[in-house]
Amino acid sequence: MASGRNMIVLLIFAFANKSFSETIIQMHPAAHRAHADDKGSGFYCESWRYSVETNDAGEWRSIPARCIEFVKDYITGERYRSDLEVVAENSLEFVKNVKMVGDGKDAWVFDIDETLLSNVPYYAAHGFGSESFNEKTFNDWVGLAEAPALTASLRLYKELSEMGVTLILLTGREEFQRNATEKNLLDAGFSHWEKLLLRNPLDKGKPATTYKSERRKEIEDEGYTIHGCSGDQWSDLMGYAMGIRSFKLPNPMYYIP
Ligand SMILES: [Mg+2]
Repeated sequence: MASGRNMIVLLIFAFANKSFSETIIQMHPAAHRAHADDKGSGFYCESWRYSVETNDAGEWRSIPARCIEFVKDYITGERYRSDLEVVAENSLEFVKNVKMVGDGKDAWVFDIDETLLSNVPYYAAHGFGSESFNEKTFNDWVGLAEAPALTASLRLYKELSEMGVTLILLTGREEFQRNATEKNLLDAGFSHWEKLLLRNPLDKGKPATTYKSERRKEIEDEGYTIHGCSGDQWSDLMGYAMGIRSFKLPNPMYYIP
């Protein structure tokens, strides 16, 4: 008798469960398609941005035309600032628990563009990444030395400096841009870096991952412990001699291999 009742309960449960599952299965694909096919929607562009930040998008040359407004809203709005704040907070949380050697060789490697300095004023005048990269106009912009600081990164930079961490700047900018870069960094509030490493003529044509890995290896060979690396490109953070932790800052405007 008891097993008969159990059987009825099981059948009711199985039926209800099947109906529930079917309801879910029937509802969601249609809802999902409606969004995914809407190519102008923020939903698509959010998904595209996610794929960029997770490095799933691979090599890409310009942002999708339908996402220009989305990237503009993101990069000039509160969300970008908030994302940068969280990355800086995570970096600080990590470094506060690091056991420092204390010999002046506890290092942190920062990229510069879209990591310490913001080129948003330049990209705002060039389609927020929808236009092909123009080396001449970008170099002209770098020469002006007017890129503002990313506030969250500046705060992290200063806190690391106060904690006695040695700050090393490793950029894809070239040696001829050293003076403008130094002036821009100082004007924006960054100071007391140990090294500012720029591409020299021998680095020309090297993928950023190779160039930056080689430089970090040299840093390690000089006896530094790289506790953290901050960069807006995966090529700032991958390769070898990557340090103990990597911190990826958001950048939906361009991709550097
Ligand atoms: Mg960068």
